[in-house]
Amino acid sequence: MLLLAGLMNPAAGQNGGSNYYLFPIKPGNRNYLAGTMGELRATHFHAGLDIKTDGVEGLPIYATADGYVSRIKISTGGYGNALYMLHPNGTTSVYAHLSKFEEEIGDYIRKEQYKKESFSIELFPAPGQFKFKRGNVIAYSGNSGSSSGPHLHFEIRDQRQHVMNPLNYGFSEIIDNTPPSVRKVALVPMDINSRVNKAFKRIELTPVRNGSKYTINRKISASGQLGIELLTYDRQDGSPNKNGVQVIALYVDDRLVLKQEINRFSFANTRDILALTNYGVMKTRRTRFNKLYIDDGNGLGFYKNAVNKGIINMLNGQDHKISVHLTDTYGNKSELSFTVTGEALPSGNQVFTKLPLKKRTFEILNNTLILSAKIKEDQAPFANVYANRMKHRLTPSYYHNNQAVYLWNLKYALPDSADICGDSLYFNFKAMVPSNSAFNFYDKSLKISFPQKALFDTLFLTTDYRLNSDSTMEYFEVGPVNTPMRKFAGFTFKPKLEYQDKTRYKAYLVTGKNNYSYQGGNWNRNEFAIKTRDFGVYTLLKDSIPPTINPLRISTGQIRMKIDDDLSGIKNFRLTVDGNWVLMNYDYKRQLLWSEKLDPAIPFKGEMVLRVVDNSGNENVYTKTIK
Ligand SMILES: [Zn+2]
Repeated sequence: MLLLAGLMNPAAGQNGGSNYYLFPIKPGNRNYLAGTMGELRATHFHAGLDIKTDGVEGLPIYATADGYVSRIKISTGGYGNALYMLHPNGTTSVYAHLSKFEEEIGDYIRKEQYKKESFSIELFPAPGQFKFKRGNVIAYSGNSGSSSGPHLHFEIRDQRQHVMNPLNYGFSEIIDNTPPSVRKVALVPMDINSRVNKAFKRIELTPVRNGSKYTINRKISASGQLGIELLTYDRQDGSPNKNGVQVIALYVDDRLVLKQEINRFSFANTRDILALTNYGVMKTRRTRFNKLYIDDGNGLGFYKNAVNKGIINMLNGQDHKISVHLTDTYGNKSELSFTVTGEALPSGNQVFTKLPLKKRTFEILNNTLILSAKIKEDQAPFANVYANRMKHRLTPSYYHNNQAVYLWNLKYALPDSADICGDSLYFNFKAMVPSNSAFNFYDKSLKISFPQKALFDTLFLTTDYRLNSDSTMEYFEVGPVNTPMRKFAGFTFKPKLEYQDKTRYKAYLVTGKNNYSYQGGNWNRNEFAIKTRDFGVYTLLKDSIPPTINPLRISTGQIRMKIDDDLSGIKNFRLTVDGNWVLMNYDYKRQLLWSEKLDPAIPFKGEMVLRVVDNSGNENVYTKTIK
């Protein structure tokens, strides 16, 4: 649908619904979004709009307002080819994943790349060096950097470089009459004295929809402190993409308990998304539940009117009405409501006997260790928990689904092991690590150093060392594995196996059976040190195979090559012709290198040399004479 004749004269300034900002793609015409500002991504909040480009590259991109180019960044990953414009009102607009730049800017970048002999570059042109009017073409859309399909990533930032929601400027290029969707609700017991449906367990429920109203047709009871999490997204009209919801408000008995509004944030805080989403669920199932309670380590400024950090206190014998109001930027609203009955804490006074216990049936939730055992009948067994060289006798906290469940407050003490009816469980708890202060730990297989505020919450650190079945690989485990980390920590492994050709070994995170993710690191005498933000199982692997190089086209006019590496990944590449450095654009997604001449009139001539080095230091050199 054509809204206005904006395409004919995008600089006219009246189209697009915004007085100051022009929609940067096809202004005045209907546009579609693949992503919105504030949308929940795995490790950050999405900083801008992802504007669709009809599945193709090369659409002209218009300056959103008068201003000048203040920054240019070319990188292999991330934003790829990115342009920043500073506007007279102090805001900055950002255009990312570009295929190419307006000619004058492109010439300038290319010269600087040749001067520095580097494809990756960051430039800060002088104010006024590249001045543009609102609606001038500044670049062309693409798919560069960490982009999984052609689109424009567009941001508007304030004077402090905090990102704002561009849709607040009322672009009529986007049509949205679609209210947010609620897929799932999770109810979480928040401490050892809380229960949901009589169990100390996080439960998920699927609401039933009627128009934009959602409800849960099931009886729910809870005791103590209750937390709510939501799996939700918002769509715009005519587009299947699941984008972010701007405002979520939680009411208990018609009283506002928490309001979360994502309209502005700083890049310094974006990793705190790991405290806003349920990290364990995200890691194991790739779904992003939005917590409607504020964790102690959550430093985000999205909350208003928070009562008891959004945690609901269930009163015995009372029905509580829980409702959640969701609103998108265009003011479309949805509502979820359901009732939870407050109950007294159930006590385990049933009678059971002998239980075969599965090994390692324990989990941790909200500082509480949960031990459970299948039970048959009769007598309630005790569990013996060993902590601080003392034996503690535990009675079941409750019985649920033919299981006896024992709860242990980890803040009280870290247990070494537990016995239930002659079966033993061994834990690998090593230390209770405070979330705010720096902390160092070492044992005979590793050293760990957390800087201040590396963690979001108190950590009950576990470590383990083991070998594979034929003792050719060793594993260093630092956990619990589904714990989020805000800042990089230092992990130092103390290998016991012998390593030949040591410099070819690097640390890898074990991500599955025969699946490894490169983490880097270096030897420090006989120890191996890395910086990481991931708990998990680490191992050292040798990459002795150099990168592959495949020529696609080598001529006087252009050079195109494919490069790849099997394990550690490509660290750098360098191509020269007759000794002179040649700018090679690199797209890691297609493993593609292609040349860009400083002077297109001068043919490539002489000996071409391409050197490619992987992260383990293996080098491959390809040479060919161009005549
Ligand atoms: Zn984006």
